[in-house]
Amino acid sequence: MYQLILSALTLPLGFLTNTPQTSLTSTKTIAHCKSSPQSITWPSHDDWSALNRSIGGCLIRTAPAASSCYKGNPFNSPHNCSEVMEHWKFGAYHAHWPESISYSIFTNNSCVPPGNNGYDERRGCSIGALPRYIVNATEEDQIAKAMAWASERDIRIVIKSTGHDFNGRATGAYSLLIWTHNFQNIEHRPDWRIPGSKDTADVLICGGGTIWASAYEAAYKAKRTLVGSEDVTVGLGGQISNGGHGILSIHHGLSSDQVLQATIITSEGRRLVANDEQNQDIFWAVRGAGGGQFGVVTEYVLSTHPLPENVVSSAVTFWSRDDSEMMEDALWAGFAEFVSRLPDLVDSGITGTVDSMSGRMALKYLPIPRNISGPAVTAKFVAFNTTVGSMRHKLRRLVTQLHNASGGNLSLTVTEPFSETFWMYSKPRLASSPFAGASRFYTGRLLGRAELSDLPRERLNHHLRRMFVAEDPEEGTLLRFDIQAGPGTAKVPKERWASENWSWRTAYSLTMAWGAKINSTEDPSSALQAASDWYEKNKEPAWRDWAPAAGAYMNAANGYSTTWKHDFYGDKYEKLLEIKQKYDPKESLWVVGGVGSDKWNYDLHSGLLCRVDEE
Ligand SMILES: Cc1cc2nc3c(=O)[nH]c(=O)nc-3n(C[C@H](O)[C@H](O)[C@H](O)COP(=O)(O)OP(=O)(O)OC[C@H]3O[C@@H](n4cnc5c(N)ncnc54)[C@H](O)[C@@H]3O)c2cc1C
Repeated sequence: MYQLILSALTLPLGFLTNTPQTSLTSTKTIAHCKSSPQSITWPSHDDWSALNRSIGGCLIRTAPAASSCYKGNPFNSPHNCSEVMEHWKFGAYHAHWPESISYSIFTNNSCVPPGNNGYDERRGCSIGALPRYIVNATEEDQIAKAMAWASERDIRIVIKSTGHDFNGRATGAYSLLIWTHNFQNIEHRPDWRIPGSKDTADVLICGGGTIWASAYEAAYKAKRTLVGSEDVTVGLGGQISNGGHGILSIHHGLSSDQVLQATIITSEGRRLVANDEQNQDIFWAVRGAGGGQFGVVTEYVLSTHPLPENVVSSAVTFWSRDDSEMMEDALWAGFAEFVSRLPDLVDSGITGTVDSMSGRMALKYLPIPRNISGPAVTAKFVAFNTTVGSMRHKLRRLVTQLHNASGGNLSLTVTEPFSETFWMYSKPRLASSPFAGASRFYTGRLLGRAELSDLPRERLNHHLRRMFVAEDPEEGTLLRFDIQAGPGTAKVPKERWASENWSWRTAYSLTMAWGAKINSTEDPSSALQAASDWYEKNKEPAWRDWAPAAGAYMNAANGYSTTWKHDFYGDKYEKLLEIKQKYDPKESLWVVGGVGSDKWNYDLHSGLLCRVDEE
C-alpha cells in the first residue's frame, strides 16, 4: 500500500505539527522524491509568479475554504465560515471550491470546519495534503503550459473536476492541481461524422469539466439522453475515464462506451485529439482506466440516445418477523434466493439498487420496529418503456420466489408500481446529495451470473453472510447491489470496448460492501491503514473466495487492496503501463491504484511522493 508504507524519511513539516506521527520503517529504498518545498528544485516565489504570468494570471495559491473558521483566517479564504460549515456535507460545494474534495481524510483532514467529521481542534488549519497551487484554466493552452512547466520541474500534477472521488484521487500534497471546472462548453450535433467511418452520430460535445446535471439538461433540450452517473453532481471527467455506469447502462452500456472522441492534454503539454483514427492508444486508455493518469481530458464527444418514453418504479422491502435463530436462517435463505434472481430481473429490463443492512444502520434507514438478526433489505427497481402491469408481474414472481425460499417468515412490503415520464424521474436535482465527509471507504466487485445465480444457494448464502461481517457488529454494515449492465454492456460492439474493467461485459451487479470502522478524529494515515488492514483481513479474502475471477470498478472499490492491479486492470495492465510511459514519461500524474503507482510511495505524513525500489 503506497500511501501507507511510511518511509524512513520523516520531515519536520509545518503541515502536520499537531498530528501524531507514526514511526514505521519502510521495507523499500527511496530512490528519489517528487519536488517539494524541501527540495532545491522547488520553484521560488518568483518562478511561480512567472508561471502565473505565462498562463494569463489563472494560477491560484491554495487557500482552504474552511480557513475562515480558524483564528485569523490564516489562508485568507474568501469564503465565509458559516457558509462553509453549512455546505461542507455537500459534494457539489467541494466541487466549487478550487482546492476542496469530498473526503477530507485524503487531505490529511488539514482544514476541516468545526462540527464536521475529521475535525480536531488540535490539528488547526494547514495546507496538509492539499495541492500547493491550482490552475484555474479557461483555455487548453494554460493547461498545456502549466503541465509542461510542472513536469520539467518534477512536480506532481493532480487533476480535479468535482473532487468526488472516493479514494481522494483529485488531491495530493505538493502538487499542482489542474482544475477542469471552467471547461463546461456543451454543444449538440445531430450529425457528427465519426472519425474513420462514413457514418454520422447524434452527439453531445462536452467540456471535460462538465457535470452530469448540465449534460443531461442539454441532451434533454435536444430530446435525447446520455449514459451517465445517477448522481448528477458527478463530473464526466472521472466517471467516464474510469468506465462509468448509470440507469441506462442496462440498455446502452457504460459511459466510456459512448465516447467517440476525446481531446487530451498530456503532462508534456501536448494537445491530442484522440479517436478511432488518430492517437488510438491514448484514446483506448482514457476510456475506462484513465482518471487522472494519462492527461487532462478537456473535451468529450458522446453518443446520445433517444429519451425513454416512461419510467416505472417500485420497491420491495423485507426483514425477518422475529429474532429466533430459525427465523434468521429462513431470512438468509430467502435473501440468497432473492440475490440469485437479480440477473434474471436485469435481463427482463429492470435495473435499480438493492441495499441490505444490519445493526444500527438498518434501524436508522428502515422502519424496523426492533433490532433484528440477519439482513434487512430494501430494493428500488426501475424499468423503461414499459407498463405498471409488466413491473407488477415481474416483481410478483420475484416475491413468490423469496417467499418460498424463506418459508414465508418475512415482514414484506411491495410498493405499488407507478409510471412517470423519464424527465420527471431523472431531472437533475442539484445539491440533493449531502454525501461528503471525512471518508467513505468501502470495497466492491463486479458480479455476474457465475457469482450470483450459477452456484448452489447454500454457497451463495455462505458468501453473503461473510460479506456482512462488521468491525462493530452493533453498528452493523451495508452490502449494496447496484443491478446494472447485463444485456446493455454485453451487447456493445467489440470495436467500442476499451480499457474499462473486463468484468463489466458479464456483470449484473456492481456490489459494494462496507464494514470497517474509521475513526475520523484519529491521525488520517493511521485511520486509513487500520481500515485497509481490516478490509484486507475480512472482506477482500471473502471476495477472492466468492469471485476470484471478477474485477472491481475503480470508482467504487478499495484502492488499497493488495490485488488492485488484477482487480482494476486484469490483463490490460501491461498495455496501460506502456501507454502511461509514452504519454507521461516523467510520471507526473500519480493516483492511488493508478497504473505504475506501485513504483512510488505516497506518505500522507510527510506529503512526499517518492520512487521506491524493492530491496
Ligand atoms: C454521491 C455519488 C454518487 C455516484 N454515483 C455514481 C454513478 O451513478 N455512476 C458512476 O459510474 N459513478 C458514480 N459515482 C462515482 C464517481 O464516478 C467517481 O467518484 C468519480 O471519480 C467522480 O469523477 P469526478 O470527475 O466527478 O471527480 P474527481 O474527484 O474530480 O475526479 C476523479 C478522478 O478522475 C480524474 N479526472 C477528473 N476529471 C478529469 C479529466 N477531465 N481528465 C482526466 N482525469 C480527470 C481525477 O484526477 C481523479 O483521479 C458516484 C460518486 C458519488 C460521490
